[in-house]
Amino acid sequence: MLAGDEPVRFEVVAEDPASGARAGLLHTPHGIIETPVFMPVGTRGTVKTLSQQDLSELGAGIVLGNAYHLYLRPGTEIIAGHGGLHEFMSWPGAILTDSGGYQVFSLSGLTKIEEEGVRFQSHLDGSRHMFSPELVMEIEHQLGADIIMTFDECTPYPCELEYARQSMDRTLRWAARCHSSHESLVRGEGQRKQTLFGIVQGGVFPDLRRRCCEELTAMEFDGYALGGLGVGEPREQMLDMTRHSLPHLPPDRARYLMGVGLPHDLVESVEIGVDMFDCVIPTRNARNGTLFTPEGRLRIKNARFADDKGPLVEGCTCRACRFYHRSYIRHLFQANEFLGYHLATWHNVHFYLDLMRRMRRSIIDGRFGEWRDDFLGRYRGP
Ligand SMILES: [Zn+2]
Repeated sequence: MLAGDEPVRFEVVAEDPASGARAGLLHTPHGIIETPVFMPVGTRGTVKTLSQQDLSELGAGIVLGNAYHLYLRPGTEIIAGHGGLHEFMSWPGAILTDSGGYQVFSLSGLTKIEEEGVRFQSHLDGSRHMFSPELVMEIEHQLGADIIMTFDECTPYPCELEYARQSMDRTLRWAARCHSSHESLVRGEGQRKQTLFGIVQGGVFPDLRRRCCEELTAMEFDGYALGGLGVGEPREQMLDMTRHSLPHLPPDRARYLMGVGLPHDLVESVEIGVDMFDCVIPTRNARNGTLFTPEGRLRIKNARFADDKGPLVEGCTCRACRFYHRSYIRHLFQANEFLGYHLATWHNVHFYLDLMRRMRRSIIDGRFGEWRDDFLGRYRGP
């Protein structure tokens, strides 16, 4: 690939005339991703309990990795020595790495924010580190993901307007530094293999969100993410911020809502016009014995499933539902057997990926509204 080529290109293939919902294709060096898409979270280079072959079988085209976690362990140099994260984890599909902005603020001790960057202590061993936009771009280039994210400050919730404004302005200055650092790394590498997405912050303040969208758009990123949502604010406010933001982003670029969410959040966000999602909910909940069904959540540890010979979800084509019954899977959880976590994760990831495929199909077939009403009519949250 020659310098200047776009490593990731987004194309809209169908739009719902009655809403913002759209179906697209995200062309990456590691495959074409159909959108809207859900990206399973593989923070430390693994989607917990699933192998990369499992992920391929499930039909996942893209997974997430996290720069903060992989930098601390095993260390960026080790991964770079393998030729990058794809080779290290033996994953043929596409990868998106989050910059670690969220983790620096949520996991590490003694965080100190400066204009230059953030000083923090590792949550693993207390060692001291400094993340600047330039260093994070170097880390993400060494990891080699197809899509990399700018280094931002994830504005906490709740947060005063004045702090949200200062924080967003700093995130914008860091975004500009990430952009220029990424471009100079691309020049140094002599080829453009990775694409950089900008992250919109601004707390729950519509004016800040709008200004952040406009200023990031002026910097010309290849895609845009909404960050700092799903961090404790009411669900309606999360959807409102998404509604306020998307009209101020270029329609020909992918839009990614970070860290959201539950099945009905995905449906309502797609309706607004979001193309990409990631969230730990399907995998984390699976390990707690919480499974997703078209009617809502099912807690497999519940005593009423002790002798239930039915599948987790009637009609589900996943490996767990085809071969095992509720009684056995509940037993695995009661006995803390690893196979229980694996089967539950398999089912939940299948449920999420299947939900996205169905949504995409309904958009292409011109019946998204009908599909949405049907889904939301059956699904009982949260
Ligand atoms: Zn299933």
